[in-house]
Amino acid sequence: MDIQSIREDFPILTQQVNGHQLVYLDNSATSQKPRSVIQTMVDYYEHYNSNVHRGVHTLGTRATDRYEEAREKIRNFIHAKSEKEIIYTTGTTQSLNLVAYGYGLARLGAGDEIIITPMEHHANLIPWQQVAKKTGAVLRYFPMEDDGTLDLEKVRQSVNSRTKIVSVTEVSNVLGTINPVKEIARIAHEQGAIMIVDGAQSTPHMAIDVQDMDADFFAFSGHKMLGPTGIGVLYGKQALLEAMEPVETGGEMIDEVGFQSATWADLPWKLEAGTPHIAGAIGLGAAIDYLQQIGMGTIQRYEEQLTAKTYDRLSSIDGVTLYGPVKRSGLVSFNIDGVHPHDVSTALDSEGIAVRAGHHCAQPLMSCLKCESTVRASFYFYNSEDEIDYLARAIQETKEFFG
Ligand code: PLP
Repeated sequence: MDIQSIREDFPILTQQVNGHQLVYLDNSATSQKPRSVIQTMVDYYEHYNSNVHRGVHTLGTRATDRYEEAREKIRNFIHAKSEKEIIYTTGTTQSLNLVAYGYGLARLGAGDEIIITPMEHHANLIPWQQVAKKTGAVLRYFPMEDDGTLDLEKVRQSVNSRTKIVSVTEVSNVLGTINPVKEIARIAHEQGAIMIVDGAQSTPHMAIDVQDMDADFFAFSGHKMLGPTGIGVLYGKQALLEAMEPVETGGEMIDEVGFQSATWADLPWKLEAGTPHIAGAIGLGAAIDYLQQIGMGTIQRYEEQLTAKTYDRLSSIDGVTLYGPVKRSGLVSFNIDGVHPHDVSTALDSEGIAVRAGHHCAQPLMSCLKCESTVRASFYFYNSEDEIDYLARAIQETKEFFG
């Protein structure tokens, strides 16, 4: 990969922050956008801004075509069988809420079990807490090993005939753990449960094949994979989506409406009420074009190299604790003994380095790690090895400064 020429596609990366070249290492929160994505959205607003699936005028037809072409790109990107299985949402959070309320609420009853992991983002935790409260279902957790991984044997022992829903993140946004979702799906299916995968942190960084993984539902966000904010996807197997009642109703999701009742449109529109984020969907299509030009395999291999180097560099600094397994996706969470993560983040920011400090929307996981928060450096394919060296030096200096 020619990192230098890739970086030239990302206008934001050229700037100075606090007198230093920006080193953007907060990609798990949101990624930066290449010029092609920005330009695609500008082009929509400048040349064919119109609502979709409504007017038959030229601009409306063009907008509808581009919007549906993007859906096909997404289908191909995650290898879904049909475009009917690709539901546009505002992001992973809305996608998971849609499954919890549109699928779970109507199907769960007292004593049924939902099983998740202790490393879930709040987006894959709170909807299940709420649905469990409303239905009398029980929310359970797979045990997690000390290194932040799951033991498949323990997963197998946890799932039983009362288990109706298993919902697991493919990649932890705190630990970087890559969970064996395909194997977990097999275990869930053997017991008749459905498998939901939170793909927010995996889809930007590795090839996704929802059919091979046999996920029943798969959720992800556009903004973490070069696309704009406010657009995301819920993939669902067609039969399950067909059986779901819409959570939101109104314009665009109907077939026929009378004074007292209405019937629903076909998939995917049945689950997409109201005017969607048209520019966002088209922008996400452009993001997928960009990612596919490089190749997800190439991206994954390069990021593995960056992550391994970071892990080595940081684990050799005395007084720095790293969280999560050695084999991981492209992020490293850590703490410096005796220094608050916010102070670390502020010190790094003064050197132009953007990292995240906090609980990363995973408070129960923080209690497992016996801390309140961590610092997280998270990478994307436009980060360079030089930036890792710079980060490691800055962490060493921060430690000495506060020590
Ligand atoms: N799941 C995981 C693992 C995440 O890391 C995030 C965001 O950081 C989300 C879900 C929620 O994504 P969004 O805020 O885009 O809805």
